[in-house]
Amino acid sequence: MTARRIPGILPPMTQQEQLELSKIYSVCGMLPGSGLMEERPFRSPHHTISPGGLAGGGSVPKPGEVSLAHKGVLFLDELPEFKKTALEILRQPMEDKQIQLVRHLGNYTYPADFMLVAAMNPCKCGYYPDRTLCNCSKDSIKRYMGKISKPLLDRIDICVETSQVTYEDLMSAKENESSAIIRQRVMMSLERQKKRFEGTGISYNSRIPAKYMEKYCKINEKQQKFMKEIYESCQLSARGYHKILKTARTIADLEDSGEILNRHLNEAVCYRAIDTKYWE
Ligand SMILES: [Zn+2]
Repeated sequence: MTARRIPGILPPMTQQEQLELSKIYSVCGMLPGSGLMEERPFRSPHHTISPGGLAGGGSVPKPGEVSLAHKGVLFLDELPEFKKTALEILRQPMEDKQIQLVRHLGNYTYPADFMLVAAMNPCKCGYYPDRTLCNCSKDSIKRYMGKISKPLLDRIDICVETSQVTYEDLMSAKENESSAIIRQRVMMSLERQKKRFEGTGISYNSRIPAKYMEKYCKINEKQQKFMKEIYESCQLSARGYHKILKTARTIADLEDSGEILNRHLNEAVCYRAIDTKYWE
């Protein structure tokens, strides 16, 4: 349910984005009657999908799910249930925002600028680490988690663990924020990013090239010391380290803060803590 709400908090598509997306749907014969894709797509292919179904291809090559999710969300539920070969296909488009298909009749490139959202249980039965309920063997848990490779995990910015909804939560009449209100906050943070990157060709915090990290994700000496400890204790890759700083930059933007504060950095680090808990 959370995943399905994401397109609703993203900014409306620009005309340019609508046209790009419409071209893809047109090639696939999936264009709606209006002739224009106006809303960001939400694609949730089943875990039995073939690598070709995700990437695209066929004798007359057609875009796959990664392209149908262009400018929107690609949601993979029960992530470890997907074929490993299918999951590994995601790495290249996640970096390049487009997918290259090499076929004997020629090479094809399709746009594939999607947001990957995935959900999973930490074991087959779904109860680990609650050992009063989970009887899965250590090996089977390791095998299950192992279906998500370190390089794929490394390309995911935010991981959060969710706990079971308690009866009290379920019954509480607490008003939650609406998507419309969250969208306003997202738009405000994008406005900040637009100003920050004016004339640079960079679009979002998440796409700051490594050589500009120092300039756009500045942290003070004390924060650097903290990050050094995290880098070493979590055995982060350079990519993983930069992702934390970029996420912290975005959290600061969502609070309309010019500087990255300690609490922003802490929160961003928490979004990676799950790696060490489950994958090592
Ligand atoms: Zn289990």
